[in-house]
Formats: sequence, structure tokens, C-alpha cells
Amino acid sequence: MKVQNYINGQYVDPINDEWIDNYCPANGEVYGQIPNSSQDDVEVAYIAAKSAFLSWSQTTFEERSRILIKISELLESNLDRFAEAETKDNGKPLSLSRSVDIPRAAQNFRFFGNAITQFASESHESVGQHAINYTLRQPLGVVGCISPWNLPLYLFTWKIAPAIAAGNCVVAKPSEVTPMTAYLLGEICNEAGLPQGVLNIVHGLGTTAGQAIVAHPDIKAISFTGGTATGAHIAKVAAPMFKKLSLELGGKNPNIIFADCDYDDMLSTTVRSSFANQGQICLCGSRIFVESTIYDKFKSDFVQKVKQLKVGHPSEQGIQIGALVSKSHLEKVMSYIKTGIEENGKLLCGGNTVEIKGYENGYYLEPAVIEVPSDECRVNQEEIFGPVVTIMPFNTEEEVLKMANKVKYGLSATLWTNDIKRTLRISSKLQAGIVWVNTWMMRDLRTPFGGVKASGVGREGGFEALRFFTEAKNVCIKYD
Ligand code: NAD
Repeated sequence: MKVQNYINGQYVDPINDEWIDNYCPANGEVYGQIPNSSQDDVEVAYIAAKSAFLSWSQTTFEERSRILIKISELLESNLDRFAEAETKDNGKPLSLSRSVDIPRAAQNFRFFGNAITQFASESHESVGQHAINYTLRQPLGVVGCISPWNLPLYLFTWKIAPAIAAGNCVVAKPSEVTPMTAYLLGEICNEAGLPQGVLNIVHGLGTTAGQAIVAHPDIKAISFTGGTATGAHIAKVAAPMFKKLSLELGGKNPNIIFADCDYDDMLSTTVRSSFANQGQICLCGSRIFVESTIYDKFKSDFVQKVKQLKVGHPSEQGIQIGALVSKSHLEKVMSYIKTGIEENGKLLCGGNTVEIKGYENGYYLEPAVIEVPSDECRVNQEEIFGPVVTIMPFNTEEEVLKMANKVKYGLSATLWTNDIKRTLRISSKLQAGIVWVNTWMMRDLRTPFGGVKASGVGREGGFEALRFFTEAKNVCIKYD
């Protein structure tokens, strides 16, 4: 199976005819090749995007909206095909691809197809100066979208949909680890009548194809989701060219549990917020802090529930944990578990690889819970991005707030309490872009999404995304 680039509405091989193996995490086997695209492919994609821009940017909002909603409908009617492709490529449970990844990708197109019809700019009457100012919100031109492997089509479309809704043309690169659903998306775009060149998808490595997008002098903005180190590199390359940048980066999110919470709801949600998608969600609550009065009970109940999670082949019914995305990632996660133990952490459960009959070379790992002696240990400070959480007790609000904020990241936080004053106090002091209280991962696509500190710069979601993908221009007219 060969994945091809999607440029100017056509599927094409990379110019250099170089290919990279694509692995299936469930069995560890190579099941296809993807283009190892170079700067030349990015240039061809850029020219296609540039040629399409004049006409697309002048296309009415109704027409753009109609096409985006059509893409959404086609994704929904192809749910099985896309969900199976996502699972095969990524290793996540098929039930998750079917219920979350692909429906959300469809929702991204529908949401921004609708949002663009409601997007408005401001006008300011300059009273006393006999003038009126109005603001134009114009598309930027050709923009770059680069996405990671953990929620492949979900995050890819989270960028592409607002970019094209706002009238831009796109050169996009999905993760080389999970290219399949982005590959299939091209077909759907053609069927929905998206004009040629509006979306161009170039596959390949970050250091070559990704780098070429970021360094391209005429690609006006980069929307990137991925690791913090990559984000820092991208900022360094893009800043001297004054590109607009939206960086959605890593996280090490606290999950703070007070004794007065709704215990059962908290417990089941905490299992999910710890291990959904094998813990490979930037929003997972990977540091669990529990009020000391319920610590022992929580520890025992939580560990018991985690032990019950069924690890298995992603397509098997009833499993909750599939395969990790790659062999190198599995090795990285396991080395962190080792580090946790070396730092005097106590491994309360999990941490062993799992052999699934018939799929012995797949990347399976039991979900692990580490009781840490201090919030300062490495497993509590560094992003692991796998099925590993730390737990430790706390006594006071001040103490837990200090520990929650004492990491370099600031993406999301979860708080479990029924005390309204405490909720308001803590939510305002947590250094995070998103705070969930008595829930996790509840999303409303109109809300701003993004992180602070090393978790990123800028906000996506709702009108924030449409603002990012447009340039504001003030026009001042004197009428006297
Ligand atoms: P990564 O940074 O290795 O890669 C992300 C993307 O960037 C890939 O497409 C990759 O090919 C590309 N890339 C790599 N080097 C590049 C370069 N020099 N120039 C341009 N592009 C380059 O990240 P990953 O391992 O794919 O994803 C995991 C990371 O993503 C984790 O840190 C996770 O927290 C983060 N993430 C953040 C969010 C968020 O919304 N904040 C969401 C999901 C994942």
C-alpha cells in the first residue's frame, strides 16, 4: 500500500521517488510506504496553493460553508473506512476511532463551515472626529498546518478546516507515523468539490518536509501541534520571517482531587483521563494529587480499576487499551517507568509489555501507576505521553496549587471538588489554558483552546482560529 501526496487535487508520487516504511502498531509489521517528500514537493504544493488562492479567497462564505459541510457529511458516511484506517495506523482502539476521532474530524469541518457564516469584524465610529473605522478580516494567503500522531485526523482537520473556511489555501503535513487518514481525506475533498489546490497534503519527515513548510518564505502562517522541542525549533525558524505562529505543544497536566468530590464519578473519569488513547492525549491528567484524607482509599480503588483495563488488539471488542504508536515510543515510555522506580517511586501496577496472541510484535503495555515520593521527580515533571500516571497525597489547597503549577508546562488541569469558592479560587490560579472542574475532555468547539508556558503560544478553536487565519486591517474614513 503506497500513500501518495495530494497536490492540486491529484494524488502524486514524491519527486525524488523516496519512500518511508509505515508500521502497524498492533503487529509491528510494515504495511505500506509513504512519500519521503523533499523541499521540491513542498514547492509544488505551494505553487498549487498560491494559484488557487485568488479564486478561493473570493469564494462566497455560503459556498465555502457548503463545501466544508459536504466534506463533513462524506466523512460521516465513510466512518467505518476512516476509523479502521486510523486504528490500523495508530494502534488506538477501533471503538475510540469510531466514537471520537472520526466523528470529531467531521465535526471540525461542520463547525467551521458554520462558524465562517457567523464570523464578523468590528467598526468604530470616532465620535468628535467625523470618521468611521472598520476592520477587514482578510485571509493570509498560503498557510502551513503540521500535526502529530496521537489524534491524527482529529488534529489535522482542527487546523485545516478553519484555515480554508477563512479563505486561505493550505500546505499541510500529517505525522509521518500516522499518514493514512490524511491520505484518504484528499478523495473526500475532491468528491465534495473543494477546488484544486485549496488543500495540498505533503507526506514525509518533520526535518525535511515539515522544515520546508516552516522555512518557506511565502507561507505566511504556521499552525503546529506537536512536541515542545519541535515547537521551539519552529519558532526559531519562523520568527525572523515574521510568520504568524500558533503552537500547541506538550503537557503534564495535574488532576487535583479533593475529598468532597463525587467520588464514583471522579474515579471512573480519572481512569479515563489517565489512560484514554493509551495515555497519548496531550490533555491526559498525568499527575494525580489526592487530598490525604481519601488518599489510601483512592489508591486502592484506582489501582484495582486500572488492573481491570483490558489491553488487546485494537480491533478486538471490549478492550480499553490498544497498542502504543511505535516501537521507539514504547521504549521511551518504558524507560520512564524505570526512571520512576530508580527515583524511589513505587510501581503500584502495570508497566510490563503485553504479548497478544497472534500479534506478538505489537507495541502493548500495561497501564502503569507510580506512587511518587516527591512532585519534583522526573516522572512528575517531564512529559511521558503514554499509559503512565503518578499519584501522591496533599494536605492543603496552597500546597497542591504550588505543586500543580511547579512544572514547565501549562496546558490543562482537572479539579474535583463540590466547594464553589475553592473552585473559583483554584481555577483562577492554575497556570493552564483549560481547567476542567468535575469533568474531563468535555469540549465545546467555540471555546479558546491552547496552553501557557511551554505548552504553547496562541489559541485555536471557535473564532480564535478564524482570527488566527486572517489578518486584521483597519480602514479609517473621514466623512466631514
Ligand atoms: P513531534 O513534535 O515529533 O511532531 C509533530 C509534527 O511535527 C509531525 O508532523 C512531525 O513530522 C513534524 N515535525 C517534526 N520536526 C519538525 C521540524 N523541524 N519542522 C517542522 N515540522 C516538524 O510530536 P509528536 O511526537 O508527533 O506528537 C506528540 C507531542 O504532541 C506531545 O508532546 C504532545 O503533548 C503534543 N500534542 C500537543 C497537543 C496540544 O493541543 N497542545 C495535542 C496533541 C499532541
